[in-house]
Amino acid sequence: MNLNNSPWLHQLNYSRPVRTLSNDLVTEVAIIGAGIAGVMSSYFTLKNTDKTVVLIEGGKVAHGATGHNAGQIVFEFEREFSSLVAEYGLEMAADAEKLVRGAWILLEELYQDAQLVTPMSSFMGYDGFTNIERLIEELENNMLRSEAGIQVYSIYISEDAPRLDMIPKKYDGLYTLVPHTNVLSLLETLDTKYIAVATRKKGCVNAALLVEEISGYLLATFPKRFSLYEETHVSEVILEKDLALLKTAHNSITADSVVLCTNGFEKFSIVNNSGDDIDTSFHHMVRGKVGYMAGYLEDLVHPPTALSFYDQTAEDVSEIADPYDQKAYIYMTRRPYELEKNEKYNLVCVGGPDRSLDDTSTYIKESEYSEGAIGEISNFLHTTYKNSPKGPIPFTFKWHGLMGYTPTGMRVVGREPKNSVLLYNLGCNGVGILTSIYGAKRIGEILKGTLLSPSVFDPKSSYHKIKVFKKRGLEY
Ligand SMILES: Cc1cc2nc3c(=O)[nH]c(=O)nc-3n(C[C@H](O)[C@H](O)[C@H](O)COP(=O)(O)OP(=O)(O)OC[C@H]3O[C@@H](n4cnc5c(N)ncnc54)[C@H](O)[C@@H]3O)c2cc1C
Repeated sequence: MNLNNSPWLHQLNYSRPVRTLSNDLVTEVAIIGAGIAGVMSSYFTLKNTDKTVVLIEGGKVAHGATGHNAGQIVFEFEREFSSLVAEYGLEMAADAEKLVRGAWILLEELYQDAQLVTPMSSFMGYDGFTNIERLIEELENNMLRSEAGIQVYSIYISEDAPRLDMIPKKYDGLYTLVPHTNVLSLLETLDTKYIAVATRKKGCVNAALLVEEISGYLLATFPKRFSLYEETHVSEVILEKDLALLKTAHNSITADSVVLCTNGFEKFSIVNNSGDDIDTSFHHMVRGKVGYMAGYLEDLVHPPTALSFYDQTAEDVSEIADPYDQKAYIYMTRRPYELEKNEKYNLVCVGGPDRSLDDTSTYIKESEYSEGAIGEISNFLHTTYKNSPKGPIPFTFKWHGLMGYTPTGMRVVGREPKNSVLLYNLGCNGVGILTSIYGAKRIGEILKGTLLSPSVFDPKSSYHKIKVFKKRGLEY
């Protein structure tokens, strides 16, 4: 029995022969990890520079988090916009949001350039809230967005919501009062504890299928400058002043630059022969969480949607000292899905339950599914989603994937301050499709030599945050 059965890998038609590394190589850029971050970093490096790129993957393309996610395209971070503003200032926080929103356009451009056919849909998505304090936080985010001149989300609040008088006057104009039935209808729920809804554009894609298609496009378009090796685990990255040596079981790769798109650190070490130790700090930079998901098929009667449910208390809303300790919520998507060729259904997927890991290297992809998680997901469907099956949910897919969390709660993109031969595009922090794509664009620009303004994604920010945590006595 497959203990980690992802609907996205189920749809992969893996016809390309797997090529493993069988000789030593020299390249200008070596990229480790062929999930969406590695494949898109390869794309932007090939597009923006004339450098040779070798992409090395320990397993198969897109079989990491990229093949085990919810496939929801959202331009958001798992951090409140207001907390980013408090930490980095309005301008830098707004830049981060704008850049990640722009990644959707980058993806659409790639669809056109490469004539990609992997289905991608976009629609309005809805986030539901039960708690007025949590809602005030969303209104504050919107007020700051409006100050920064970026798009605000529409927020609809039930006119019957309790404690409406708690909403400060300064937020007038940033929300609309509507009949409670409208809130419930947008969220497709009968659960009256949901008192408000925020709307924004969202989308759905099978990220594994997409990344596999882009890999094929890169191999066909850049045959002289791009090569891909799968089932080739890198066990050691040795950094010198101007180059890196990557060790695999039988061979080595010498590169001018190496980009880690590994999501975390899966059993490899970094030796820096030209400066301070990097290995220890890197291993402190990414912590793991296993995210559990399940999906069932239904007739193709309802349109695609993406819903998130924030059933949180006032205490959940207080400032999070440790971004690793994110506020829990449940997310659901519904999209057309072909189980086998021309067998058309809707696939309803639900995620949210998770489990923390002290060390991402202890994650086992084939490990058993959590019974607790399936109980939580079934309970959510029965109590919240009005179109859910009434009895036991006939799940066709149950899967889990590894999420890498960084100290800032933001993706880490850029050159390692202690040795600039090493670059990163990693740390999904729960939501990572668009941030990986933006990160990849930034990697392409850095390798081209473009001077970029400081950003919340700089590795420096993560190192700084680790120091702050240590000062506060928090383990990181
Ligand atoms: C349950 C779950 C739900 C999610 N839902 C969403 C969502 O709806 N929307 C969204 O935007 N994001 C979501 N995410 C996050 C998103 O999937 C990730 O941010 C994104 O896929 C990360 O891509 P990546 O390329 O960085 O990592 P991965 O896809 O994990 O790729 C990293 C690759 O590096 C390889 N690797 C690692 N170490 C080595 C080594 N030493 N040598 C060779 N290869 C190595 C691995 O084998 C792996 O293939 C979700 C994640 C999970 C787990």
